[in-house]
Amino acid sequence: MKCPVCGEKYNKLDYQMLARHLGQLCERNDSPRVDFVKYYAPGSNWLSNEFQNDVKQIFAHEKGHLGDWILSRFVQRIFGEKPHPFIESMQKPKKSVFQGYAIEYMAFHKQRIRSFAFAMAKSDKIDIQKLEAKLIFPELMEWSENITSQESLLEAMAESVGIPVETLSSSMPLPPTLHATRLWNSISENDSWLEIVTSHNLLDLVYSPLLGKSGAKLPYFGPFVLENEWIPDEVKTFLSHSVKTLAPIAEKALEYVVKYGEELGVSEDIQSVFLRSLEAFDRHLLARVTRARQFDSK
Ligand SMILES: [Zn+2]
Repeated sequence: MKCPVCGEKYNKLDYQMLARHLGQLCERNDSPRVDFVKYYAPGSNWLSNEFQNDVKQIFAHEKGHLGDWILSRFVQRIFGEKPHPFIESMQKPKKSVFQGYAIEYMAFHKQRIRSFAFAMAKSDKIDIQKLEAKLIFPELMEWSENITSQESLLEAMAESVGIPVETLSSSMPLPPTLHATRLWNSISENDSWLEIVTSHNLLDLVYSPLLGKSGAKLPYFGPFVLENEWIPDEVKTFLSHSVKTLAPIAEKALEYVVKYGEELGVSEDIQSVFLRSLEAFDRHLLARVTRARQFDSK
């Protein structure tokens, strides 16, 4: 198993060593670990004998319910009692929300394609290769008129809210997005294909109605957004594509992650990498909000 904050490796099910590692670093006031423990094991004391059990509880799920654990962690972090500020801003979005979204998403998008390609190349499973191909090929097949790439939809969306393609492609993302893309790239280069699928394909569950069934208080965007007159068609097309095309692929990815995770006996590795990725995604979503505010103040 691995540390859900830094990825350090331990023997399978060695919660004792993991708890010791987390506890020692918390004791030194290492903020990522302290934040992690306070968030996922609130009220626990890293100096107590109970701490190992508290850490174990973070990973606990009933047999056969790894998928539910993943969905409920996603909901807890992004769609819970206090929804993520980006999700809140998408309920009644202003123009600046889409401007911030577009700029930060471009860097995220470029990493997505690389991560998917790594998963495809590293996996020996044809179903995984086909799944990743569905996401990669539309982005690279410029010669085909029948296939729409997400990048072209993103460019059209950005342009419709006043961001020219040149600005979109030359803008540097904010540090949290950069940090997140570096993490995803490092997972792609160093970790197993199943961890790559978990760290990146599952993020598209953000568009999925499955989250509603797992207790999400809000949808990815407010239901009236697609009918709202001021919102350009290009924005609506971009959002609809995420829900209609990307969400079902992510749901399929979740099925595979559960299936292979259990088959290969690596459920805890999947859980760890998912928590690491979710934290990075959370920060990337915040960067979209920060960028939107910058547009507001211009
Ligand atoms: Zn660690």
